[in-house]
Amino acid sequence: MARYKDEQCRICRREGQKLFLKGERCFSDKCSVSRRNYGPGQHGQKKAKLSEYGTQLREKQKTKSFYGVGEKQFRKYFEMASNKKGITGENLLQILESRLDNVVYRFGIGSSRAQARQIVNHGLIDVNGKKVDIASYLVKAGDVIAIREIKQNKGIIKINEEANSGRPVPTWLEKDANKLGGKVLRLATREDIDLPVQEHLIVELYSK
Ligand code: SF4
Repeated sequence: MARYKDEQCRICRREGQKLFLKGERCFSDKCSVSRRNYGPGQHGQKKAKLSEYGTQLREKQKTKSFYGVGEKQFRKYFEMASNKKGITGENLLQILESRLDNVVYRFGIGSSRAQARQIVNHGLIDVNGKKVDIASYLVKAGDVIAIREIKQNKGIIKINEEANSGRPVPTWLEKDANKLGGKVLRLATREDIDLPVQEHLIVELYSK
């Protein structure tokens, strides 16, 4: 439906940041944030001052949109992060970053996280030689991610490989030089994660 065509761009405009939800378009001058850097809708150009709660909520919504995760799943990740040693906000980001759809995207397979999720859901990904078609699967250090042998030449993936070759692969992943995918060297740390979010505000929101 045309009405929802720019829904993802509206999310970015509402957050006032590029969240890279649409693949190639995000890196072009067609990006809506580059062209209209103000909120969507009739009153989008008015800068409303957010309350403390509003600011915390926006940080949560931004993070959910960035990773394409629903409220229930996000809450579950928060519980997991709280039960882990270390800083809860950083643990939360590490868990989100470890999702298989995100890792597939980081390896340059798929032009967006949404497309990477589709690729996983369609059963095109192997983890340590076995098919894994669950996008929320959490990778571990040492896991090897690859496109399934029989599907190597599938058109959509070949095109993406070329289109995404300029996207840098983060240092916690080691890209296989000969084929799509690679190895998870370690889990991501806060410094590795390029999402401009104040994760402590999410922790404050959920701790109320
Ligand atoms: Fe749209 Fe991508 Fe730009 Fe966000 S970053 S506004 S999804 S084109």
